[in-house]
Amino acid sequence: MRPSERLSRIPPYLFAELERKIADKRAQGVDVISLGIGDPDTPTPSSVVDALARGAADPGTHRYPSNRGRPEFREGVAAFYERRFGVELDPAAEVVPALGAKECIFNLNLAFLDPGDLALAADPGYPVYTGGPLLAGAEPFLTPLVPERGFAPALEAIPAEARERARLLYLNYPNNPTGAVVPDGLFAEVVEFARAHDLLVVHDASYTETTFDGYVAPSFLATPGAKEVGVEVFSLSKGYNMTGWRTAAIVGNAEALESYWRLKTNIDSGMFEAVQLAAVAALTPEGDQAARDMSALYERRRDLVCGALAEIGVAVTPPKGTIYVWAPVPAGHSSASYCEMVLEESGVVVSPGGAYGPNGEGFFRISLTIDDDRLREAVERLRSSLGDAEGQAA
Ligand SMILES: *Cc1c(COP(=O)(O)O)cnc(C)c1O
Repeated sequence: MRPSERLSRIPPYLFAELERKIADKRAQGVDVISLGIGDPDTPTPSSVVDALARGAADPGTHRYPSNRGRPEFREGVAAFYERRFGVELDPAAEVVPALGAKECIFNLNLAFLDPGDLALAADPGYPVYTGGPLLAGAEPFLTPLVPERGFAPALEAIPAEARERARLLYLNYPNNPTGAVVPDGLFAEVVEFARAHDLLVVHDASYTETTFDGYVAPSFLATPGAKEVGVEVFSLSKGYNMTGWRTAAIVGNAEALESYWRLKTNIDSGMFEAVQLAAVAALTPEGDQAARDMSALYERRRDLVCGALAEIGVAVTPPKGTIYVWAPVPAGHSSASYCEMVLEESGVVVSPGGAYGPNGEGFFRISLTIDDDRLREAVERLRSSLGDAEGQAA
């Protein structure tokens, strides 16, 4: 048996070694606390669960769904975009359901890239922006996020030859893994850049509903001209505690959506219609409140983590959004060696920044998706074991 060339182009899974170490630790009886993966720990809002139950009981949802989505779904997403972002969408042509942002982003690579083409992908960034182009037979081109500019991608540094070959540009704000919110003026700059180089912009809106300190995240599509050059992938996973439901929508440029839909009809058969109806329940004012309540919970956890990091001498800017804290590793460590030491000394798992791209090297990521008591304990362990370790090193 021989796997495809295409599969062998995908780099080895960077968390695999860490996972093996965690399993070893647990086998030794260590009570490991994982702050690695970002996966909300509290339940989906009950109004959403109830809507699923009602939808599942209706035989009208039991047959193959249409890949275009039920009218209720398309209209629900459009109404949400109007209310929440002030963005007008045509439910008939500018909204299509997606089986999670991950599926959608991967398939956009298949729909828009040919061999020789490039996708401009943020470094550090969500791994599908780089793995997707490789699996599509094309290539990612890494654009470093610049901390001094609020983690904006260094568009001006992209060489002419790469601009020429690029067909897609991925953006993601609030940003995983840095926690950055969109820098002022970036979306407008990106619209210009996309026009000049004839690219499709894909804004991954996985964290717009998870924000702190009164910050309200905009939609890329609210930028003048954005709909002519771009699409937005709105995921319900993180903001509404729905990671298990595989629920997202792609919205924006009708022509791009048509291509995505045409591809998708050859790959999957759409989203279970009862799930579509449940998504509609999430995208109501009641759902807005649930997302705000979740944000308040993460904001509290963020403060807990940032406070503890400050005490052990790790300087971080408290993020205004996402479910992550992004922090520099102490001098003398690589991100992998630091994460290994943290696991060794305190039984706490954090993610090495290098796993999100070469530019993530020198950082680590803490996820806030663990209940308050366990998070408090993890933070306490970091404080006692690493606080000491730092002291000894100094
Ligand atoms: C979690 C995450 C996703 C995956 O979202 P799904 O809708 O669950 O597939 C996509 N993009 C980013 C940046 C994420 O952090």
